[in-house]
Amino acid sequence: MDEFTCIARYFAPLTEGRGEARGLTDDAALLPGSLVVTTDTLVEGVHYIGNEPPALIARKLLAVSLSDLAAKGASPYCYFLNLSLPRYTGENWIACFASGLRQAQEEYGLFLAGGDTTSTTGPAVMSVTALGLNDRPLSRCGASHGDALYVSGTIGDAVLGLEAARGELTGVSAEDHRYLLDRFRLPQPRLALGIALQELATAMIDVSDGLAQDAGHIARASGVRLEIEAEHIPFSVAARNWLDQGGDMMALLAGGDDYELLFTVPPSRCGLVESLAGHRISYIGKVREGEGVAITDSGKLLILKEKGWRHRI
Ligand code: ADP
Ligand code: MG
Repeated sequence: MDEFTCIARYFAPLTEGRGEARGLTDDAALLPGSLVVTTDTLVEGVHYIGNEPPALIARKLLAVSLSDLAAKGASPYCYFLNLSLPRYTGENWIACFASGLRQAQEEYGLFLAGGDTTSTTGPAVMSVTALGLNDRPLSRCGASHGDALYVSGTIGDAVLGLEAARGELTGVSAEDHRYLLDRFRLPQPRLALGIALQELATAMIDVSDGLAQDAGHIARASGVRLEIEAEHIPFSVAARNWLDQGGDMMALLAGGDDYELLFTVPPSRCGLVESLAGHRISYIGKVREGEGVAITDSGKLLILKEKGWRHRI
């Protein structure tokens, strides 16, 4: 069973149909008091290798939750931290981990409000529940026929960075290797962009499980079809170099951990979006009537073998 089937079958009914939970199909819950709440977990050996500097692991842990707040145009407020650590972890590791949390707190303007700490006989498991503020957050369901589709930053770097972290990325320059590894290890939550898009976008999601799959979430929630033109998808210089060496573009569209924002904009507001200063934004396609996601490359329909990352349970 994949994670989405598990959530829909066993956990969504427990929301009792409450609107705050959004059917467990959104990036965050919306609670009274303009609170936007999201939780994410990193598991040693699954989301990170284990040999990374602890401060980097901590910063990534906060960044992935803050990316969900970005998708809701919310301003970070505070977070809760749940840690299950193996007994051999050692105080030095924890001190470095805490210093990474402090760095991220200072960068994003939030504080630690609580949590839980336990030991475990398995690998380290860590969760952050982040609380943000926004009284009118966007959802995934507002896209309509005629809207344009945009994405921030570049797509596919992190999936190559994961290969680099595993020592499996070959044939790239040392500089590209370093860049891709950094993109995997330290996502940049697009908080300022999320806030700027509040009055401009009609639907928004953060891309955490692969562009193709996360586009599918907007298509499903909005009851529309997304047509993506591969020639417009933004790739970094390093990812382009990898593609030029014969790399498969599908792997970049199905890979996870981008933590970019994917959003739809009505034609009347595209000019405003494209003139937002200080953000890299790319037009990648259109919203049509229908369902699903179609990705074309110079007019030819691409078939994705793997649509995106799903945990198997
Ligand atoms: P994201 O990638 O945005 O963090 P996920 O793909 O992890 O979101 O989860 C999809 C949705 O399912 C979210 O609304 C999340 O809150 C919900 N969800 C995931 N796991 C559980 C769970 N065990 N119990 C309740 N809700 C869950
Ligand atoms: Mg998300």
